Amino acid sequence: KTVCVTGGSGFIASWIVKFLLQRGYTVKASVRDPNNPKKTDHLLKLDGAKERLHLFKAELLEDGSFDAAIDGCDGVFHTASPFYHAVNDPQAELIDPAVKGTLNVLGSCSKASSVKRVVLTSSIAAVAYNGKPRTPEVVVDDTWFSDPDVCKASKMWYVLSKTLAEDAAWKFAKEKGFDMVTINPAMVIGPLLQPVLNTSAEAIANLLNGAQTYPNASFGWVNVKDVANAHIQAFEIPSANGRYCLVERVAHFSQVVEILRKLYPSAQLPDKCADDKPFVPIYQVSKEKAKSLGIDYIPIEESIKETVESLKEKNFIGASSNM
Ligand code: NDP
Repeated sequence: KTVCVTGGSGFIASWIVKFLLQRGYTVKASVRDPNNPKKTDHLLKLDGAKERLHLFKAELLEDGSFDAAIDGCDGVFHTASPFYHAVNDPQAELIDPAVKGTLNVLGSCSKASSVKRVVLTSSIAAVAYNGKPRTPEVVVDDTWFSDPDVCKASKMWYVLSKTLAEDAAWKFAKEKGFDMVTINPAMVIGPLLQPVLNTSAEAIANLLNGAQTYPNASFGWVNVKDVANAHIQAFEIPSANGRYCLVERVAHFSQVVEILRKLYPSAQLPDKCADDKPFVPIYQVSKEKAKSLGIDYIPIEESIKETVESLKEKNFIGASSNM
């Protein structure tokens, strides 16, 4: 079978490509710059890449850019979308590529009669921010959908970009009558295949690179290998449908720091919260649907350890960390 992975060089996508090649698929991966070895070398070195990986140049905001990568594919994994927090122009840098880019990719999918299912990498960002309180008793599940007004009021531009993109994708899929499944992971950590530091792994790197304080935030955490597997299962299992939230555990940054302290007792870690307010409460995320994809989550402790070992190996943790 032949499948397409958009944004193939990214953190999550690289693992999807690796597992797809392992399972015998022919993979057409889109990248923005096929001539940049930092974006392609790690993919070209994967087992099976020589025989079954094909790279295509595509840009989210160029109409029809993904046609060649998608043509003839049985399935499409659309992962490409900008994930940064520091932006000057949220509309141009985050929202347009997320929303118009998703519709651009889905447009190519609807032109290619071979495509049987699209697996869209959405996010818990498109689920959990609807203004309802999130406390330890509350169980967030796939029936929640984030509210664009709540995102705008808190200037959560990345969260807004993912919310608008998923909403637009469902409307498009219904209108065109094609089969789409979304994967909605929380903060994804674990080993990096790519040589570039991505935003979610950076959240762990920051704690070890001289931060004086940790953020007053509680996030769900999940291992990149579980996320990549869930994408492939969502394509392969015929009855898979709707949205799949992926969270092993929700933890406040103070708890992440505690886990790091246990794993690396000599590490320099922040011991103060960034503000004096009460800790943002943790909450729960239902694991029921993910179970139906056969996902048996890697525990957060192991995921954090794998992240740190990978960050060390790739020199993303400086000497000041004392580890
Ligand atoms: P990365 O930054 O590693 O990957 C993002 C990918 O999107 C890169 O391949 C990047 O290409 C591509 N991309 C960005 N802008 C464009 C554009 N204008 N045209 C073409 N490609 C573009 O991040 P992740 O792997 O973490 O993110 C992948 C997906 O997963 C995103 O949709 C993200 O929203 C989602 N996600 C991530 C989570 C996480 O914690 N990591 C959690 C939940 C969802 P290039 O390499 O050329 O920059």
